[in-house]
Amino acid sequence: MRRKLAAGNWKMHGLAADLDQVDALSVAHPAPECDILICPPATLIARMAERAAGSAIHVGGQDCHHADAGAHTGEISAPMLADAGATHVILGHSERRADHGESDALVRAKAEAAHRAGLTAIICVGETETERDDGRTLDVIGTQLSGSLPATARAQNTVIAYEPVWAIGTGRTPSAEQIAEVHAHLRARLVELIPGGDDVRLLYGGSVKPSNAAQIFAIPNVDGALVGGASLKAADFSAIITAL
Ligand code: PGA
Repeated sequence: MRRKLAAGNWKMHGLAADLDQVDALSVAHPAPECDILICPPATLIARMAERAAGSAIHVGGQDCHHADAGAHTGEISAPMLADAGATHVILGHSERRADHGESDALVRAKAEAAHRAGLTAIICVGETETERDDGRTLDVIGTQLSGSLPATARAQNTVIAYEPVWAIGTGRTPSAEQIAEVHAHLRARLVELIPGGDDVRLLYGGSVKPSNAAQIFAIPNVDGALVGGASLKAADFSAIITAL
């Protein structure tokens, strides 16, 4: 049985006052049936981890460097994330692939760094709207998966998030059939690529909200969600956690 995961990606949102959300979530979900993760901006990771101590809430980063340390001004390494109290890190988010030109090979190197530091890597894949319209979705996703997945990947240290680029922050979501098709493809590829691939959790991400969460979570091979906008309000994220 794959334990479900509700992961919130705060992106470039969040100030110290927003840490109150951790208290609200821990009170609402003292013993949740799924794993709960929040990935705040790097400035809040250590303080959030302190606030979340003793609760069921895990804290993660949104990116890390592929090196453990070095002359890389402005960057944050996986050991630093772990030292700050993070247990997970999102890698290869489409916003980083687009804004920072991150390649599959770089994402794989970052995932290796995350594993060296004992972090769980949440590796994101997803097609653009043009790629979907051209009928290339499964090819694109399959290539991203095999290129981004390190040899160290196992169910214990790796989660895959399917996030169609055109669904992120747009309010649009794929149909249940489209999500099921991609997740089945990812599952089959994972089983081929790594030992225990059947146990790797597959998240769906892109405009998940309280009103569509239950429907999305009922789709086969959907083991949770990576939630952006709707994770910023504790009440919305809490409703999504409850729907899992
Ligand atoms: P969204 O973002 O839920 O705001 O669409 C999801 C993501 O980018 O992880």
